[in-house]
Amino acid sequence: MSETKIFRYFMLLIIPALFAITATAGNPLLVSGPYGLNPGGQPYRWADNTIFYYTDLGGLGNQTNAEANALVEEAFQVWADVDTADFHHDRLGELDADINASNILDYYNNTIGNCNQPETAIIYDRDGSALEAMGYDYNSVLGFAGVVCINPAEVHYTNGMALLNGRFIDGQPNTPSHQSLTLDEFRSTFVHEFGHLIGLGHSQINLNCLTDMPCPAEDSDGVPVMFPILLETSPEAILTLDDRSSISMLYPSATLSTTTGRIRGHVMFSDGRTPAQGYNVVVRSVGSPRDTAVSSVSGFLFTPDAGNALAFIPGLPYGSYDPALIGYYDIAGLPPGEYTVEVEPIHNSGLYPFIYDSGVGPIGDYLGFQYKMPGRCDLQFLHNPSAPEDGCSDYSILNISAGQDLNVNTDIILLGTPSRYDAWEDGD
Ligand SMILES: [Zn+2]
Repeated sequence: MSETKIFRYFMLLIIPALFAITATAGNPLLVSGPYGLNPGGQPYRWADNTIFYYTDLGGLGNQTNAEANALVEEAFQVWADVDTADFHHDRLGELDADINASNILDYYNNTIGNCNQPETAIIYDRDGSALEAMGYDYNSVLGFAGVVCINPAEVHYTNGMALLNGRFIDGQPNTPSHQSLTLDEFRSTFVHEFGHLIGLGHSQINLNCLTDMPCPAEDSDGVPVMFPILLETSPEAILTLDDRSSISMLYPSATLSTTTGRIRGHVMFSDGRTPAQGYNVVVRSVGSPRDTAVSSVSGFLFTPDAGNALAFIPGLPYGSYDPALIGYYDIAGLPPGEYTVEVEPIHNSGLYPFIYDSGVGPIGDYLGFQYKMPGRCDLQFLHNPSAPEDGCSDYSILNISAGQDLNVNTDIILLGTPSRYDAWEDGD
């Protein structure tokens, strides 16, 4: 068995004046909350479906400045090419200075963090030294990306930043003390980080490719670019259906709702009434279940800290307080066909639990843990009608047509759980 290279992606979300935190958000990256001038529960996005950005002056590893600019263009275009999405990118020019270890902190504090002068920056850290100057390990962090400023009234991002660590492509051999990537692997890093920059969080699909090597080819093909960790078995920057669904839901094209289908509902505890937050819902094609799959975290539009005094985070900008969104999942962009729906826990063990910087969903991102499955099934399917004596692998097949928005009989009732009530329930 070959050795598995694992690199942590890293991303940064800093919102001066409202809240400062280093975290990822599930899918999408940030959802409006009670501090915005709107009801909350809306994913943030770039205005006019377009990200405008400036690029750094220097080189990146063994790539010239022009080559690095081409990599940036190419990576944004991977997202722009999704035909069910309407997303654009536009390079406005160069930054005023070549950002390196000597000026990154000043630049970060004074320019990036100055929300009065929005300027989204793509920084080329030629040898990893700027990353090191910011206190990160340049031998394991490929780079980071995130949103720096938001306009809560409009639910828009206004300023973001991505930094790519060129030390991984400086031409030196891959050793434990100097990890290196192929250019193809590094391209995947760009696409992943820019996914964050345009507003996408992480997705979990085919977790076995991280935890149970080996990982069959069709499983590897289903691992999204927005998986929290770059796996050696899936280095290509090829978007999966999950990635395409994510960007299409954030920036829908005019044809998304007419050419594809949508499945949405709630994950519920055994009483069938109490919604369950923080579980991974995966819709899989019956014909090719391992490589044609799309995920959504239950409760992804809801705040992670409501009703839990211990977990309350003052000023947390994420998510609505609308109880109807507790446990809610929503998966769009499905090609017409037959699907199953399953629910599983989000990874929370080993060296790389999906929390904080590697988080999937708002619970992991902000509270730093993930729930175990509460009932008698580690993996369970949507089965309708549901009965308490159902087996974990009993499933229903949903036939989805173009333009269909299926939201009836789509709740997944977890088997064998206690009933749960939280601050939003009256408990009767
Ligand atoms: Zn990431």
